[in-house]
Parts: sequence; C-alpha cells; structure tokens
Amino acid sequence: MPPHDPIDLSVRLASIVGAAHVSTDDESLERLSFDAIDPGRLMARASAVDSRVTAVVRPATTDEVSGVVRLANELGLPVIPYGGGTGVMGAVIPLSGGIAVDLRRMDRVLEVRAADRLAVVQPGVVLADLDAAAKAYGLQMAHDPWSVPIATVGGAISTDSVGYRASKYGSMGEQVVAYEAVLGDGEVVRTKPLARQSSGPMLGRLLSGAEGTMAIITEATVRLFAEPEAREFATVGFESFEAGYPVVVRLFDLGLIPALIDLTEEEPGDDAQGFRCLLYLGFEGYREEVEAQRVRSLVEATAAGGVDIGPRARLHYWDTRHAVAERWRDSTRPLRPTERWANR
Ligand SMILES: Cc1cc2nc3c(=O)[nH]c(=O)nc-3n(C[C@H](O)[C@H](O)[C@H](O)COP(=O)(O)OP(=O)(O)OC[C@H]3O[C@@H](n4cnc5c(N)ncnc54)[C@H](O)[C@@H]3O)c2cc1C
Repeated sequence: MPPHDPIDLSVRLASIVGAAHVSTDDESLERLSFDAIDPGRLMARASAVDSRVTAVVRPATTDEVSGVVRLANELGLPVIPYGGGTGVMGAVIPLSGGIAVDLRRMDRVLEVRAADRLAVVQPGVVLADLDAAAKAYGLQMAHDPWSVPIATVGGAISTDSVGYRASKYGSMGEQVVAYEAVLGDGEVVRTKPLARQSSGPMLGRLLSGAEGTMAIITEATVRLFAEPEAREFATVGFESFEAGYPVVVRLFDLGLIPALIDLTEEEPGDDAQGFRCLLYLGFEGYREEVEAQRVRSLVEATAAGGVDIGPRARLHYWDTRHAVAERWRDSTRPLRPTERWANR
C-alpha cells in the first residue's frame, strides 16, 4: 500500500460523503476493524488484534459508495464493506489498513412489492426491520438466523448466512433475485430481477457468500413468502446424537423436509427431561401438509427409539431463538472490541 497523507484522505472522503460521515478517531477505527470474532479464533493471525483500518466512511447513496471506491483505487487503498459487524469469522479485519465502508446509513426498505412477494432493500437494513416491513403485508422473510435482530441484509447475503428454516427456504443468498452493486473500479452494475434464467451466467451468484471481495452490494431485491397457514413443532429426545442422526437421514430420504431441523446435544437444559440429545422439528405450509409431516416424523422418530417430549421444550426453543443476539446487541456491542475481549 503506498504511503498517503491521512489528512488529505479525510478531506477527500469528506468531499464525497460529507465531513460528518468520515471518522479517523481511535475508537471508530478500532470498532470498524473487527466484527463479533473472539480472538481465540484468530489463531495463526493472532497479530490481527493490532490491525486497524485507516479511515471509516459512512455513505448514504450508491453514488457515494462508487465515489469512495474510485478514490480508493486512485490512492491504492483497500476497501472493506461493513454491515452489522456481527460476523464471527473476522472477515472485516484489515490486512493492511484501508477504508471501512460502513453501510448502516443505507438502511431503507425501498419497496415491498407484495403481489410479487419481493422487497427492494438497501444493504444496511437490519433483518428484523425487513421482516417487520414484510409482516405489514401479511408476508415474512424466510431467512431466520439467530442474528435477525443484529445482522444487515448486505452482510447476511455476503456471508450466505443460514437460518432456522433454511432446510425449506434456503440460505440468504438464495433469497436474492437481483442486485445493485459497486464493482472494484467504482462501476455500478445491476443484475436482472429474474428468479431463473437460461441465458448466460447468473452474475448475482458471484456476490452471495463473497464476503465483500467481489463488489459492494448497494441494493438487493429479495424474496418474501406468505405467512404459512399452519406452523407446528415437535421435539424428540434421544440417548445420543448417533441415535438421532439416522432419523434425520430417514426424513430426507422420504422427501419429508421440515422447515426447521436441528439435532443438538449442546446443553439441552431443563426442558430436555434427561435426554442428552434433542431433535427439534418445525413444519410450515398448508394445514394438511403440516399435520402429515408432524405425524409421520414422530412415527419415524419413535420407531428409532426417540421419545416425543411434549410442547414445553419446543416452544421455549422457538420463542427464545433470537435472545442470544438481543443480548449481544444490548450488552456486548456497546463495548469496544478490546473491552469485549478483556471482559470475556
Ligand atoms: C449472537 C450472534 C448470532 C449469530 N447467529 C447466526 C446464525 O444463526 N446464522 C448465521 O449464518 N450467522 C450467524 N451469526 C453470524 C453473523 O450474524 C452473520 O454472519 C451475518 O450474516 C453477518 O451480517 P452483518 O451485517 O453483521 O455483516 P458483517 O459482519 O458486517 O460483514 C460480514 C461480511 O460481509 C461483508 N459485507 C457486509 N456488508 C456488505 C455489502 N453491503 N456488500 C458486500 N459485502 C458486505 C463484510 O465485508 C464481511 O466480509 C451470528 C452472530 C452473532 C454475534
């Protein structure tokens, strides 16, 4: 990276986004140099705890993002898009300084096209806000990770994040039908808003899971779904993970794909009724389908030695699924990264 004058950099960034939206103070640089990673995960890159971006910039429009990228090219500086900062793998940690492009000012749901089951959104929209906008039309967002209250649309697409109901609806990347994005040279591209096409490569697929390396996503058109007519849950206790796993395979062999399927032996808690492993199942769709899936799943699970352990565990599991992210938002995020690590 060539040497650059930090004052000149700030002035030039300010000319694009306004001085109020450029930061070079220690706290801003530290915060925007990390996500929710625990330093224990850095391993061979342990020295990255000292990494810092050179400047933080908060654009409000696609043109501003493009302007920042063009300037970065001119100066030979890396750019690092930043969403909710909730990634847990350190993807935003700079290798050698650079400009952190904080997209949280681009936080508008631009349009809900209810009849088309689509929403057009800016990248900094928090997933929970998109879901609330969909709910106003009797629709829902299908992507449902723990991090709904804290992750942004742009970050969720760029990590191709997976949520509770991914077995039925797919990952976040699979929700996107069109992109607007700023390429590495500052050019703005838009992909066609088609669910499927048979002419040429699907360029948008290069962006899902790209961790910000291919482009900065500045707008996405994402799928919405009708609220299901019925939603049911089942929880089955097993003596071990090994005892429960063949049931999961059997259900998929049957073509019975629950919306939620989670086989876990992590601290099942009081609700586990002494079982070391729980299989949580959730079904959504039309009433008869949901009932048929629930009944057949329990038949298969009990035939394999599982025990239906009643409604309490399943409701607790479902109702508290976003609690860990709310705790992170309220008590961890306010701390600077170095304070978080000191207070682990
Ligand atoms: C409590 C907690 C619970 C979690 N639960 C889940 C879970 O259930 N499932 C799951 O998959 N993950 C989970 N995560 C991880 C994290 O929430 C996801 O990876 C999330 O998708 C990241 O979104 P973000 O907006 O915070 O992105 P960031 O962390 O800000 O960025 C992630 C990556 O995307 C890039 N990026 C961000 N915005 C853009 C953009 N507009 N254009 C291009 N690139 C961009 C960044 O450069 C980076 O590489 C959890 C994290 C926490 C702290």
